[in-house]
Amino acid sequence: MIIEDVGRAQDALGEMLRDSQSAVAFTGAGLSTECGIPDFRSPDSAWKRHAPLPHAEFLASPQARALAWRRKFAMDDLYAGAQPGRGHRALARLMETGAVEAVITQNIDGLHQAAGGAPERIIELHGNGSYATCLSCGLRHELADIRPRFEASGDAPECACGGAVKSATIAFGQAMPEEHLRRARRATLACDLFIAIGSSLVVYPAAAFPAAAKDNGSALVIVNREPTPLDAMADLVLRGDIGAILEPFAA
Ligand code: NAD
Repeated sequence: MIIEDVGRAQDALGEMLRDSQSAVAFTGAGLSTECGIPDFRSPDSAWKRHAPLPHAEFLASPQARALAWRRKFAMDDLYAGAQPGRGHRALARLMETGAVEAVITQNIDGLHQAAGGAPERIIELHGNGSYATCLSCGLRHELADIRPRFEASGDAPECACGGAVKSATIAFGQAMPEEHLRRARRATLACDLFIAIGSSLVVYPAAAFPAAAKDNGSALVIVNREPTPLDAMADLVLRGDIGAILEPFAA
């Protein structure tokens, strides 16, 4: 069923949450657009002007890595100071009350945690853009240390071990963190309600989770303002603005 009326969408979601014993939310870039962070696929997205490099390109040369860092900092400047939106606040509250067990997110902006979501309940499939790691030894590096040195030299940062330092996000072609994947699979297969929010559901393997939940017997709800390829298998499609639909759940 597709619901476009906001009030009816809120009622239907509320009822499904009440009936659920174990709900999981799966979030994408659409959750953060009201916070000023553009999503990936909408026309004129700044991500297209400052597109993250595929992993193989990043590894290929120091020049490519410098380009990747220039784009990363350009994007950071665009959404510096972004605050959680209504959807983040609603999900933090739903996790607090136990109505939602976990949030699996494709987002790299850290806004679920900033809204008060317990970090142990947030599974970041695509990493986190607020710090960096060495690809060789795994050491964490802080952007506040990297950026001034990069801007002064123009050289891509390197670790003391000689390894390349990369934003702690998962690039196209880069393996997803095994531990996060394991936790996401466990949460997906344990839930009886899976709510996909603000994702075009075309980026794999992340987009496989809603279908896996449904195949395992869970109900599937999709909240998005445009159609997705998985709408046909969903029990409920709430088509509209995420912030408007989720707002009452923050109370
Ligand atoms: P996407 O850009 O492919 O899809 C976002 C979807 O959200 C679109 O279908 C769009 O119509 C919808 N949408 C946008 N604003 C909305 C709103 N206010 N209400 C309802 N719907 C809205 O995003 P994706 O599926 O998450 O895939 C993009 C990839 O890029 C992800 O892997 C993610 O890691 C990365 N990314 C992350 C961020 C972030 O961290 N905030 C931002 C852009 C891209």
